[in-house]
Amino acid sequence: MQKIGILGGGQLGMMFIQNALSYPVEIHVLDPSPEASCAPIAHRFVVGDFNDYDTVMRFAQEVDIVGIEIEHVNLQAMKDLKAMGKKVIPDPDVLEIIQDKGLQKEFYLQHNIPTAPMKNEDDFPVVQKLHKGGYDGKGVKILTEKNRLEKFDEASVFEELADIALELAVIVARNEQGETAIYPVVEQVFNPTYNLLDYLLTPARIDEETAKRAQEIALKVVNAFQSPGIFAVELFLNKDGEIWVNETAPRVHNSGHSTIEAAYCSQFDMMLRVLMNYPLGSTQLKCKSAMLNIIGAENQWGEAEPGGLDALLGVPGAAIHWYAKKITQPGRKMGHATFVGDNFEWIISQIEQVRDALKSIEKKV
Ligand code: ADP
Repeated sequence: MQKIGILGGGQLGMMFIQNALSYPVEIHVLDPSPEASCAPIAHRFVVGDFNDYDTVMRFAQEVDIVGIEIEHVNLQAMKDLKAMGKKVIPDPDVLEIIQDKGLQKEFYLQHNIPTAPMKNEDDFPVVQKLHKGGYDGKGVKILTEKNRLEKFDEASVFEELADIALELAVIVARNEQGETAIYPVVEQVFNPTYNLLDYLLTPARIDEETAKRAQEIALKVVNAFQSPGIFAVELFLNKDGEIWVNETAPRVHNSGHSTIEAAYCSQFDMMLRVLMNYPLGSTQLKCKSAMLNIIGAENQWGEAEPGGLDALLGVPGAAIHWYAKKITQPGRKMGHATFVGDNFEWIISQIEQVRDALKSIEKKV
């Protein structure tokens, strides 16, 4: 049986394995936490740091194909594995670009991909993004005259503040032959308190021409990378109608979660197809859908359980994905719920009914 090794053992890896278990493959996972979501369900789970060269090299020796569920992995190991003839997806050269927001920005500019123009760092307002290490909005700051002293000290990109009408995302799969499959556009709605994704709607409520343009830009990004893999291209639809690429994740992504319930082939199934070089699946939607993150409630830090589960499961078609993380923390992503239906009005009304209760809370003893 082919052995797939995944660097990272969080919820993305967990949902990948849940689907992969239906195939004749073996899944190995490397993650530093023995309590990672993948630990109880991987065929082999190795506790270790995917940022450590030797650990990654040792882990990869046991597998045929190396994939990722997080982009912050040891780059030199990925490069050396590829040079040794191991199948590594995505291509390490692409990981190198994506790991650094400075290189990523240059890449878009070089390939004529529309993105927020670079700007002088004291030409306020300006958006500062750390080259390395940012995630979930933590390495991003909007600087104005007023808060200019809050500027990060580390190496950063400075770019124009987008006048955003909507934040969109498009997931694109590319196989080793260069064939691609593009999912319908996803509309992201953010929670301003945590600067975390709140819920998302698929397909985005935009006109056909805009959707087509968003998909074309996402495809252009992925074809420019020239690498097999699953890519989530995050976009800004600006108020003037222009679309800018914000950033690309070289992996399955939060914005693709509702494809589990709502598409013929989920992003996780697509990832497996790409890794195994099976035919790409159908990205067609069966219905409309929404995805709501289940996050840790305020002031709750103990052993976690989902609050509001009965309310959620009372909604026709609704589904829970609980990530099996042990400890709840305010704002931590602990799971998600998917809502499906024929129209967004009904779907959103269902979200509104359960959203206050649907939180990760401390387990009651
Ligand atoms: P991360 O990689 O940490 O998720 P992002 O680059 O996606 O960070 O930025 C997080 C959020 O910050 C975006 O979703 C968007 O709301 C806001 N943002 C980022 N860049 C810009 C920009 N140029 N103009 C306006 N808002 C931005």
